[in-house]
Amino acid sequence: MIDATLRGVRSTNAAPVHRIGDIGDEGTWLLAGPSADQGPEALSSHLTRLGSLRPFECAGEYRTMLRQSGLRGRGGGGFPLAAKLDTAMLAPGEPMVVINASESEPASRKDWTLSAYRPHLVLDGGAVIAAVVGSSEVVIHLHRGAGAPVASLQRAIAERRSAGLPDPRWRLSLGPDGYVSGEASAIVSLLGGGEARPSFSAVPMAHRGPSGRPTVVSNAETTAHVGLLVRTGPHAWGAAGSPSSPGPQLVTLAGGAIDPGRVVEIAGEATIGEVLSATGHRQPPTAVLVGGYAGTWISGWAAWNTTFQREGLEAHGAGPGCGLLGVLPEGHCGLAETARLVGYLAGETAGQCGPCVQGLPLLADGCRALAAGTLRRRGLRRLLSLADVVEGGGACRHPDGAVRLIRSALDGFADDVAGHLRGEACSGAQRPPVFPLPEVDPSDRVWR
Ligand code: SF4
Repeated sequence: MIDATLRGVRSTNAAPVHRIGDIGDEGTWLLAGPSADQGPEALSSHLTRLGSLRPFECAGEYRTMLRQSGLRGRGGGGFPLAAKLDTAMLAPGEPMVVINASESEPASRKDWTLSAYRPHLVLDGGAVIAAVVGSSEVVIHLHRGAGAPVASLQRAIAERRSAGLPDPRWRLSLGPDGYVSGEASAIVSLLGGGEARPSFSAVPMAHRGPSGRPTVVSNAETTAHVGLLVRTGPHAWGAAGSPSSPGPQLVTLAGGAIDPGRVVEIAGEATIGEVLSATGHRQPPTAVLVGGYAGTWISGWAAWNTTFQREGLEAHGAGPGCGLLGVLPEGHCGLAETARLVGYLAGETAGQCGPCVQGLPLLADGCRALAAGTLRRRGLRRLLSLADVVEGGGACRHPDGAVRLIRSALDGFADDVAGHLRGEACSGAQRPPVFPLPEVDPSDRVWR
């Protein structure tokens, strides 16, 4: 629980009210309901709390609500969901609807949390999307190593069948655990009998996916928002966010956060400082990593008064991405952490595009040399030139994320960079890393 159970804050200078809550906290939106120690919410509890839906009878009304809501994808891309649905509805053929609950970001837990504890909210959203676009089936995709959410979703589907809910057909799909295997085009490729590797097409997937059908892939959090906002109405739901980021949002705390892996919900415009204060931090950390492992570093002091929403983060060249808020504590080296993360991202290439396959390992080598204090100015110039070549050179945006991370590190840790280039690597570089990496042997990687 958060210190004050649920924090509702109104500052003296009339800043907007915000609330930050944990799962089960009263007043939260997505996380409201039973506490985590009660396990997955049963259908009876879910319907008692929120009431039932009539997806097929109300499809037109729900479509209008989704348009009015301004809901954007919460998986990282931030694409407006209503636009995807409109595209799919105009395309020929029955659309394929996929809920992406795979959450490939190693430290992110929000989709895991929703799928494990609020499976009916996720399934409700899937049923609404299917009804809106006219699809008779919804696929829920997870990584094979997902654990609890798989059992929770299976049980929830069985409960809904027994209760005779007016649902589409549900199909659970389990795929490889890799980072890029959770990318939308990789999932759809797998579902079509191919490998879980990303692909590029100039035609939007919502118009024609790799299987030839219009394909709507919606992240688990995004889908849960759909299940909620068609009940609350788009305006009440939207007011729990900001003009550019309507609706509440989930954040996973990571790295050197006091409770890494904890998922909290922000309703209203909370600053990063307020989120960290509500979870036990008393002062700005050295830096925060926002948006995921391919995200953006922001100095702790600058971040402290920045809202964790699109407009606030964009001022720092960042975005909410998958909702990850990573903490770099005092005394740790941001360049060493960056080198590890870039090394991890390099190992997660799908092995298809030259700039990604060849460029990312070289970028990782350069970052490691910088962290170790063995890179010099000429080497840094080469690293920056290589970043320019790698960026935009892949079929997916995997390499672009690594480049963004590197650039933000060079910018955000500029003083450290100067010291490391002189051969004066800080003692923080010797400390144990704070951002966890999955233990994956790339030679064991499977794509199916
Ligand atoms: S950019 Fe990298 S991860 Fe993306 S498709 Fe190409 S090789 Fe695969």
